[in-house]
Amino acid sequence: MRELTFVGPGSVEWRDVPAPVIDGPNQALVRPIAVATCDLDVLLLRGKASMFGNNFAFGHECVAQVVEVSKGAGPFRPGDIVVPSFQITCGTCGRCRRALTGNCEAVRGTAMYGIGTLGGNYGGALSDLMKIPYASAMLVALPNNLAPADVASIGDNVADAWRTVAPALRGNPEARVLIVGGGSIGLYATQIALALGASTVDYVDSQPARLNLAEELGAHVYGSFPPKGIGRFPITVATTGELEGLTFAIRSTEPGGVCTSVGIHSGNATPMPLFDMYITGMTFVTGRGHARTVLPELLELASTGRITPEKITNKVVPWDDAVDALSDPPDKLVLAREQIET
Ligand SMILES: [Zn+2]
Ligand SMILES: [Zn+2]
Repeated sequence: MRELTFVGPGSVEWRDVPAPVIDGPNQALVRPIAVATCDLDVLLLRGKASMFGNNFAFGHECVAQVVEVSKGAGPFRPGDIVVPSFQITCGTCGRCRRALTGNCEAVRGTAMYGIGTLGGNYGGALSDLMKIPYASAMLVALPNNLAPADVASIGDNVADAWRTVAPALRGNPEARVLIVGGGSIGLYATQIALALGASTVDYVDSQPARLNLAEELGAHVYGSFPPKGIGRFPITVATTGELEGLTFAIRSTEPGGVCTSVGIHSGNATPMPLFDMYITGMTFVTGRGHARTVLPELLELASTGRITPEKITNKVVPWDDAVDALSDPPDKLVLAREQIET
């Protein structure tokens, strides 16, 4: 089968590789039909995430069509349109049953598609087929009224955005939210926060296109960093991997507030203003999200029109144009192809 390989920054190529096969119960083979670039993919392509190495099957945010299932794959049948969890999740271990599907005990801690050895070499979404090892747990049916390309990011970056604001808004409805942007996640978080009842979203970024989009979505925007005198917020979000953005979000969190960081800070000891955090008694949240757990709620938000992730997509291009399109990708690119008639 054909598989898109990340060769190195700015370079991907199609390679012929053996197709995955079903070799046990509760498995599925799916054919991705809409694949979005994750913010991490964009960093990889721009040469800003060297810890993942080179030469691996690329892509992990997708909507797919089921091609084959084995016994025990739940309700799924060939032809179904599904959102596969990008994280490998068994659904039955202790942590999965406690909704910690990003920390499944059946697999290594970073098991996921599209990042090579660190993810456990499960293949990538820009392939003719992806193997789903725990189909009944990892697949979620796409509601009929959603177009695959519109929600290609829903299983990863939209889910990551959700956890930066939704849990904190549950504890503090109508709270004001501050988002330090950096990729697509801050924009999805803006949309989700307003959909879930945040009274305001203040959005800080240095990139004009994202600032315009955030403003269109309803945020107050600040294009110079750090913005002066905007005060403190009960809910703050740092979507950037830059230390300045993280520190600004932490220092902008009000007493008792919650700051969530989704940026990857890869050094051994990232300096943090712990004294400020101690004095405010704030909560700091980081770590990988639990994508599978939140998918049903996100799909409900999208299928009822409360969130519209397609507004954050910069460009949708045909599947076969992947190599050219990924050589200089925008923040959010979607590659799409027709589903197969069944
Ligand atoms: Zn991702
Ligand atoms: Zn598990």
